[in-house]
Amino acid sequence: MLQQTTVPSVYSHYRNWFKLFPDVQALARAPLQKVLKAWEGLGYYQRARNLHRAARVINREHAGSVPQKYEDLLALPGFGPYIAAAVISIAYDKPYPALDANVRRVLVRLSCLSRKPDSRMENTFLHDLAALLRKNRPGEFNQAMMELGALVCRPKNPSCLVCPVQRFCLAYKQGKQEVIPAPRKRNYRKIETVLGIIKESGKYLIQKRPSTGLLAGLWEFPGGKRKKGETREGALRRELKEELGAEIREEKFLLKIRHAYTQFQASLYAYECTLRSTPRLRRDSQRWVAPWALKQYPFPSGSAKVVRFLEKRNSQGY
Ligand code: SF4
Repeated sequence: MLQQTTVPSVYSHYRNWFKLFPDVQALARAPLQKVLKAWEGLGYYQRARNLHRAARVINREHAGSVPQKYEDLLALPGFGPYIAAAVISIAYDKPYPALDANVRRVLVRLSCLSRKPDSRMENTFLHDLAALLRKNRPGEFNQAMMELGALVCRPKNPSCLVCPVQRFCLAYKQGKQEVIPAPRKRNYRKIETVLGIIKESGKYLIQKRPSTGLLAGLWEFPGGKRKKGETREGALRRELKEELGAEIREEKFLLKIRHAYTQFQASLYAYECTLRSTPRLRRDSQRWVAPWALKQYPFPSGSAKVVRFLEKRNSQGY
């Protein structure tokens, strides 16, 4: 949960997660949809799927206990060298260095490295960390390094004056702590998406995304991306025709939502629609759902905001 984000932003999810899945067995037994729902809002849904698969492997092949061997951890779905090292050092106090983005930034600044670390430099970092680990409590050492990067040696405005390793820091000595490492330029693609909110006999129409690819297995309202040269209403008509085989009788703009995903920034335009004909539904992946039941389905963050809007509006009697 904590990869590429901060503790405050995952805290409520973390607490809720352990209420739902107090141990490996509970997670392994849970249906994927329940797992994705508990993850809703955290993004990177592949991690939730991998965690679920890992729990099943642990249950099946390791008698329900998280393995204590690095190689066994590395073989679990979603476990790379960083996760394996973090788990084995923090849970079992074994000396494996955990090199995450925060720790890497501290090391880059300590050595005043002006270029992006290549694989040789990464190995040097791991080697140096391993040498320190042998003398210290590995779990605490790894966590201290992560916290140093997250709270003191932050990407912007590092707190060098109170930094416990300031006297070893070459970037600080050379006054380069603000420019090393060079800030990453993110080139977000911008896309516009239109959604059709279709309600019949008191129920909303939702559909499941394919089981592979972006936001796999999550639910959404029918719709899709606006193509170049299309109006939003034109895109809505085309998408609903393609997905439901039905023409729109009338559409009314409801709300706009902006949301940043990993690779792009999306503007979602939701329209309330009535259709000219009954849509042809795919039984396995499209269904009518009562308003109260919408919250049982895992939605991507943008659509989840639409769900909350509808819930609020329904509670006000609209
Ligand atoms: Fe980071 Fe500043 Fe500490 Fe160097 S002195 S490690 S730049 S916080």
